[in-house]
Amino acid sequence: MTATFFSDVRILEGDSVSDLVAVTVRDGVITEVGKESEAPASAELVRGEGRTLLPGLIDAHMHVAERADLDALAAHGVTTGFDMASWPTETTAALRTETGTARIISAGVPFIGPTGTHAGFGMPSYAIVTDPNEAADGVARRASDGSDFIKVVTEPEGGGGPSPEVVEAVIAAAHEAGLRVVTHASHIDSFRMCVELGADVITHVPMGTPVDDGLAARTPAAIPTLTVADALTTAMPRPGTSYEAARESVVALRRAGITIASGTDAVNAPNVPFSIAIGSTLHHELELLVGAGLSPSEALQAATAVPAEMFGLEDRGSITTGKRADLLLVDGDPTVDITATRNIEGVWIGGEEYGTGCPA
Ligand SMILES: [Zn+2]
Repeated sequence: MTATFFSDVRILEGDSVSDLVAVTVRDGVITEVGKESEAPASAELVRGEGRTLLPGLIDAHMHVAERADLDALAAHGVTTGFDMASWPTETTAALRTETGTARIISAGVPFIGPTGTHAGFGMPSYAIVTDPNEAADGVARRASDGSDFIKVVTEPEGGGGPSPEVVEAVIAAAHEAGLRVVTHASHIDSFRMCVELGADVITHVPMGTPVDDGLAARTPAAIPTLTVADALTTAMPRPGTSYEAARESVVALRRAGITIASGTDAVNAPNVPFSIAIGSTLHHELELLVGAGLSPSEALQAATAVPAEMFGLEDRGSITTGKRADLLLVDGDPTVDITATRNIEGVWIGGEEYGTGCPA
């Protein structure tokens, strides 16, 4: 049995950090959290000295292509990534089994329309679905390829995305198969369509007309990806779009009490318009979420407990007994200053210190 004992750390507690506690980890799982805890015999001791111990962060919208992407996440304290589309499926399957690094759950190959932007990204041809009758087979194929959830890329009318009938059929087939559906919507019309058709989670927010209070109130859950909105409106400015519109959408979603998870759209691939660095940008996303009105502790929840719950990952997302020991030790108090998440002193994945532990 291996054990690690974190002494004198502060953990998230409501809107702030706790008094000093100790956290005990045995065989990759958090076994005790408390003021009176004592170090198990032969435990490795990590002196917290008042630093903050966070649950490993989650980037709820990124893309993986190779092992190095997982390591980039891990090096920045992001111990779980939600891969929102990747291919070929053999590569994704192999990345899902990598150890000693960040872990992913993945949509695998998404559903896309015939002529939208995504049709030019080099996905397998079956990504394109134009007939609602193909939805059930498409979902079954992805499920057998190991997809943990279903991703659908929607576009506004005339934008080359899947028809509303196809989107509706995919959502129904996915739910029949017990899979959640995340829909991409970066335009107000497609965002509204996704709300009306019953998507479980909508990712991105419009950069043109923002989401208003009425639509926000009906939104099921959101992964806004302010990082990519920031990057797109800076690198590829287009009339009628702005970062401010994306930010306003997040303000409206938060005001409506909608569940918001942090995601970046980080990707390291040659065949997309531009790259967003994997790992480091999740810390930027947290800062942007705070800039859109989330409190620092809400932003931290958006990168830990919220996405874990949103995707049914019951084994992670908080520092409580029984959870995986995916941990991040940072200097400072990120509930006061969110940029403190960047002051990384150590990362543990399943109880093994990243970069020093022996990969299982
Ligand atoms: Zn994406």
